[in-house]
Amino acid sequence: MSENTNVYQIVQQQIKEAVDMLGLDYTVFEMLKQPQNVLEVSFPVKMDDGSIKVFRGIRSQHCDVLGPFKGGLRFHPTVEMDEAKALSMWMTFKCAVVGVPYGGAKGGIECNPKEMSQGELERLSRGFIKNVANFIGPEKDIPAPDVYTNPQVMAWMMDEFSKVRGYNNFGIMTGKPINIGGSKGRSEATGRGCVYVTREAVKELGWNMKDMKVVVQGFGNAGSIAAKLLYDMGATIVATNDSVSGVYSEEGVNPYELEKYKKETGSVKNYPGTENVTNSELLTLECDILIPAALENQLTQANASDIKAKIIAEAANGPTTPEADKILFEKGVITLPDILANAGGVTVSYFEWVQNLQNFYWTEDEVNNRMEEMMVDAFKSCYKTRESYDVHMRTAAYLLAVQRLADAMKTRGWLN
Ligand code: GLU
Repeated sequence: MSENTNVYQIVQQQIKEAVDMLGLDYTVFEMLKQPQNVLEVSFPVKMDDGSIKVFRGIRSQHCDVLGPFKGGLRFHPTVEMDEAKALSMWMTFKCAVVGVPYGGAKGGIECNPKEMSQGELERLSRGFIKNVANFIGPEKDIPAPDVYTNPQVMAWMMDEFSKVRGYNNFGIMTGKPINIGGSKGRSEATGRGCVYVTREAVKELGWNMKDMKVVVQGFGNAGSIAAKLLYDMGATIVATNDSVSGVYSEEGVNPYELEKYKKETGSVKNYPGTENVTNSELLTLECDILIPAALENQLTQANASDIKAKIIAEAANGPTTPEADKILFEKGVITLPDILANAGGVTVSYFEWVQNLQNFYWTEDEVNNRMEEMMVDAFKSCYKTRESYDVHMRTAAYLLAVQRLADAMKTRGWLN
């Protein structure tokens, strides 16, 4: 039988399982099984050659019982409603797991940013915001970077939203450049948070980071930071890749040098002292820790039994299918699920928003220390739940999140 990789159905299955295990009111499932609001817009953008192109954008707002909607916006050639819905649902659980007072949202614009100029990207960003301005807001829904969006895109969007409202609204977007209200530590936060929970798992297993061989799938924003921090802690980075190629070296690579090389050449491909590997070879290499830091559905029924890693830390959203999850669990692999392992990003987004609303800015150490505390607490709570229910770490994270959401629903009078 072929595997179901529809992420919307996958997340619904995950919620159902948690609601059933916790014996919660069925209303909780009904409230969580789909987003509260979705918006789809299309709008024209003038291209550099003078032509007009119509783009399609999406925003899904899942559940705001714990606070305003929050989540990234991606620029990608395939942006689909089901995917945006699923990603917004994961954001709700992610925020609930780490104790960030937000609900989940996600969205994107269907485009190929690699083929667009800066001017076109700016007009695209501004056009999208004009069309969704009534749907979002600093107290309502706060977007952030996601796949192929960056601080510059956040700056254009914040600027456009401020123009629509008629006054500065720094708190409308997070992940902004530091000189216009961005937070110190935000751009490294996803990778850094992932490393904190990985370190806790290594400690919990009684292992030493210095003995760890690490494979990082995706040497992008999250992956390269995770590689550098783990390298600083003494781990050996044996392989990593980007959309062009992968590189492998048994002795390990210096991710700082590799980053410089990638900046110069555009890819990690042919990095001296390494051999090139394909994406599927990379995932099944001999290692202790595997960090999927790319896209969804990477670890599947087809490759899960060949995976050698003992810890998988999901810096990406949704990289493992439920079938792969089962296989890995049976093999005794510890998976640090996305809704825990990549929650450092939204945690520092929350700090950025708090700083914007207060117009009072924190030092980098304050940001990192507070994030570390929240990530370590969340890891410990998930680990404890995993032991008491004898379940997979992913299920434990869902149990925690869904219970917190159900408690808030009850307190707000949404349940009997
Ligand atoms: N896009 C990131 C995520 O998936 C960050 C979201 C945010 O900071 O709001 O967690």
